[in-house]
Amino acid sequence: MKPIIFCDFDGTITNTDNIISIMKKFAPPEWERLKDDVLRQKISISSGVGEMFSLLDSDLKAEIIQFVKEKAHIRPGFHDFVEYTKQAGFPLYIVSGGMDFFIAPLLNDILPTGTVFCNNAHFDKKKIYIEWPHACDEQCNNECGCCKPSIMRQMAGADDFMYVIGDSVTDFEAAKRADFVIARDILLEKCISEGLPHRGFETFYDVMEILKQREEVKS
Ligand SMILES: [Mg+2]
Ligand SMILES: [Zn+2]
Repeated sequence: MKPIIFCDFDGTITNTDNIISIMKKFAPPEWERLKDDVLRQKISISSGVGEMFSLLDSDLKAEIIQFVKEKAHIRPGFHDFVEYTKQAGFPLYIVSGGMDFFIAPLLNDILPTGTVFCNNAHFDKKKIYIEWPHACDEQCNNECGCCKPSIMRQMAGADDFMYVIGDSVTDFEAAKRADFVIARDILLEKCISEGLPHRGFETFYDVMEILKQREEVKS
């Protein structure tokens, strides 16, 4: 079986969650209730995140991009990890509930086009609004926004060995479908409590080591 890798962005490739950082900095206090409702699963991810962004004026675009560029730190080893997957011939897809306008500036020079799946933010009305080009397929009714399980069904073949790399509850549906999970933070706790096959990581050097070890054992 050949490996295929699905990797989250916020809190996984970057050290922190960019949507949370943006809201803390720019949104009026109402955003916190929306965030709590999403985390308690009272509202779907897509409606919660959509409403959060609708609290922000489109005029803020340049300022928000500048803020994310300064604030977001890529986790150590990520560039080497991307290079490693290219050389090993392992397809790598970024699957993110984040938005194109803050992901593209951080990843465009590193990853080939067509390998990043995320949501699109638009700034042509008074308030920011979100478009969801990778919404749930007919097998998912979570209203994920960017539906990671749907993308996995779309991109992986029957004899692919699926790795999921992530950090949070928003990766859990994908993790349940994975053959092996590489996890940190809340997703790591979830993998332990649900008994999913996994290893923990902090940097992408760890991720590379895990892949090397596993793939050498298999071959
Ligand atoms: Mg995340
Ligand atoms: Zn879904």
